[in-house]
Amino acid sequence: MATYDLIVIGSGPGGYVCAIRAAQLGMKVAVVEKDKTFGGTCLNVGCIPSKALLHASELYEEAGHTFARMGIMVGKLKLDLPAMMAFKDQGVDGNVKGVAFLFRKNKVETFLGTGRIAAPGRVEVTGADGAQVLETKAIVIATGSDVARLDGVPIDEKRIVSSTGAIALDRVPERLLVIGAGVIGLELGSVWRRLGSQVTVVEFLDRILPGMDNEVGKQTQRLFQRQGITFKLSSKVAGVDAAGNKLKVAVEPAAGGAAETIEADVVLVAIGRVPYTAGLGLETVGVKTDARGRIVVNHNFETNVSDIFAIGDVIAGPMLAHRAEDEGIAVAEILEGQAGHVNYDVIPNVVYTYPEIASVGKTEEELQRAGVVYNTGKFPFTANGRAKANMTTEGFVKILADAVTDRVLGVHIVGADAGNMIAEAAIAMEFGASSEDIARTCHAHPTLPEAVKEAALAVAKRAIHI
Ligand SMILES: Cc1cc2nc3c(=O)[nH]c(=O)nc-3n(C[C@H](O)[C@H](O)[C@H](O)COP(=O)(O)OP(=O)(O)OC[C@H]3O[C@@H](n4cnc5c(N)ncnc54)[C@H](O)[C@@H]3O)c2cc1C
Repeated sequence: MATYDLIVIGSGPGGYVCAIRAAQLGMKVAVVEKDKTFGGTCLNVGCIPSKALLHASELYEEAGHTFARMGIMVGKLKLDLPAMMAFKDQGVDGNVKGVAFLFRKNKVETFLGTGRIAAPGRVEVTGADGAQVLETKAIVIATGSDVARLDGVPIDEKRIVSSTGAIALDRVPERLLVIGAGVIGLELGSVWRRLGSQVTVVEFLDRILPGMDNEVGKQTQRLFQRQGITFKLSSKVAGVDAAGNKLKVAVEPAAGGAAETIEADVVLVAIGRVPYTAGLGLETVGVKTDARGRIVVNHNFETNVSDIFAIGDVIAGPMLAHRAEDEGIAVAEILEGQAGHVNYDVIPNVVYTYPEIASVGKTEEELQRAGVVYNTGKFPFTANGRAKANMTTEGFVKILADAVTDRVLGVHIVGADAGNMIAEAAIAMEFGASSEDIARTCHAHPTLPEAVKEAALAVAKRAIHI
């Protein structure tokens, strides 16, 4: 029987990064993956393919609408959807092969099959060639998450799709109804709107992007509406009738009342994700889960059973690839006796729509609830030279800083390239920067991040360009 220091179950961003870091630290490591390719949700059906389609569809829209005003004439715009899907698949392929290469490079052994914890220190892998048992000192569960489903809306991945079906449609739906105004619904809704769909987003709450800063939600809703997306807030989908050519979606006020029927060609269910632990054998070894099915861990990512750890989407916390990666590194270092740590106060969150929406740290509402007194510095991209030159003036940077210490507590950016710009804020916050530290840091001109500096100046009411 093969014996390891560590077996990681699941090869998503949490699992594969954990395995590589553990191997770097000298451990003998194996990874068990039930899918045909490594990389998990993120590389196969999540972050990477959705961003490839967002990138391609954004350029398609620009070619149709904004190239001409820059003097670029492209003739009649034509969409080749199979080619765009092939572009997306190529991006996925390059990434999943990259993980396989990194496993080989770091001498991480891999087993394709479903992993089940047969006992502490024992993982049974059932693959195409039957079952085998591996022995290990420690186990890290990194089995990720699955699509959350809605009663009365059965997903067939053809007409009623999850994000997985929505990144692989074979034609542009005339009408797309998205259930859920969270990140995935808005990103994939944007892709299909740009390619020609009429998009309606139904959201149970009275706002889009729940959990993000209120002002960000309000302003971006207006921008998305201007682009042609229709929102039905405070509404819920009661069911979908799939009998005819068109799907008939029953939409009711969230508070109750008469339903209306909205017709659609495709319905995207994007109401969130749930932890995935099916077949893992958690009951056999007595690993505890919470009421929402998430594996319960302590501050060292260890479950209630010694030497069984869990990270990523399968435990509580924001379901984000970079957070899973950081937990993977932390747990590998903890296993090696180091002080592995994740700073949950500084986890950036990005929505890759146009404009992009990025945030790190606290929202205004969170600070108000906690009774923290703070100053706000805000700077619009309409006043940023580069944004004006590029004609990408939508959005703003908002910095929230402690009123007493001036320490930066939260940064929220709506604008072109916000996802790249938030890294500056994250580094500043990780180093405990004050808004004055950012304001006194020389920023290259002309760049969009100058708006971050100006927002920092605005905290002390001394922005220059507005
Ligand atoms: C459409 C979409 C877009 C997204 N975009 C972003 C984004 O832009 N940025 C971002 O940060 N996050 C994004 N996410 C979220 C991100 O994909 C997840 O947070 C991330 O993948 C979680 O990583 P993980 O390692 O915990 O789990 P996963 O990536 O889900 O990987 C888990 C792996 O475990 C395997 N597995 C499960 N059970 C077993 C078993 N018993 N035996 C063997 N293998 C098993 C699965 O097959 C899978 O490969 C997106 C998600 C979706 C759906």
